Amino acid sequence: MEKKDICSYTWEELQEEMQSIGEKKFRAGQIYGWLHEKLADSFERMTNLSKALREKLEDSYEIRPVEMLERQTSKLDGTNKFLFRLEDGNVIESVLMRYQHGNSVCISSQAGCRMGCRFCASTLGGLQRNLTPSEMLGQIYRIQALTGERVSNVVVMGTGEPLDNYENLVKFIRILTDEHGLHISQRNITVSTCGIVPMMKRLANEEFQITLALSLHGSTQEKREKLMPVAFKYHLSEVMAACDHYFEKTGRRMTFEYSLVHGVNDTDEDAKELSGLLKHRNCHVNLIPVNPIKERNYQKPSKKSALNFKNKLEKSGINVTIRREMGSDIDGACGQLRRRYAKS
Ligand code: SAH
Repeated sequence: MEKKDICSYTWEELQEEMQSIGEKKFRAGQIYGWLHEKLADSFERMTNLSKALREKLEDSYEIRPVEMLERQTSKLDGTNKFLFRLEDGNVIESVLMRYQHGNSVCISSQAGCRMGCRFCASTLGGLQRNLTPSEMLGQIYRIQALTGERVSNVVVMGTGEPLDNYENLVKFIRILTDEHGLHISQRNITVSTCGIVPMMKRLANEEFQITLALSLHGSTQEKREKLMPVAFKYHLSEVMAACDHYFEKTGRRMTFEYSLVHGVNDTDEDAKELSGLLKHRNCHVNLIPVNPIKERNYQKPSKKSALNFKNKLEKSGINVTIRREMGSDIDGACGQLRRRYAKS
């Protein structure tokens, strides 16, 4: 029989599970603390449990390993990229960025992706599978263990579409923010989506205080269709309505991500249309000069033209930043480390 993935149980679920095998509630609390606060990677280490209980756990449950294959360090800003191997051989990528306000980890939510955004390296090989809550947590836990540094911010912006793996994402957030675990503040978590409208509506009802980021990349329906196949499924007007709903329901200001692709979506006309779309919304815009991938012929705009685009939005009163490039000397666009590995 396959062993159960013990790190994917929420606090409540683990209590029920332990009671179902005849253990007391407080034992579940101890085990949860070992897994999610002390980041134990074996039952053996749980020294305040009896040997008999540790063996019983060992027989039916497993702490699924997230094993490091490679770690790259940027010479420019100390950013680390990690390549991890999952139990079934799939490999995933995560990034640790060090900012003045703390350490931020960018995690993957799926092995591969099926959304097909034109400029994105992570979607070129399609979707392998969803990651479990424990595999999303494991990326953060491993990085903390490997570096000895505390992680304070988490962005779900690595490979995969988080809202295409909804149930696991929600469990992941519950466990990560649980007071009995790492207890990361919900306000320090950002989930980025390409705009899966029904799931955005569902997320608005979870009563989370997380930030939702929408990958916009085009200021009109037609322009979005050129870069993002998902736009054919959900019309821009529906996506924007879902964003407004999210803000109304949670009080959390939306972030709009806009990857600047030279000659495709970075003209003055684009800036004007984008201003029109966003100026009456309480939001933040994050401009990302596109990281060119070798499979496509997209180029990033010059620094000057990116600044010009930013200024145009600012003149309309929009809150906007150009995302600082982190670790640009290590393996170019996100997703390419994993891709290189998968091919070799
Ligand atoms: N699937 C989610 C999260 C993953 S990508 C989403 O679509 O939002 C995180 C962000 O990086 C998205 O805005 C995505 O469009 C952007 N992105 C992906 N590849 C990029 C590249 N090569 N250059 C710049 N931004 C990129």
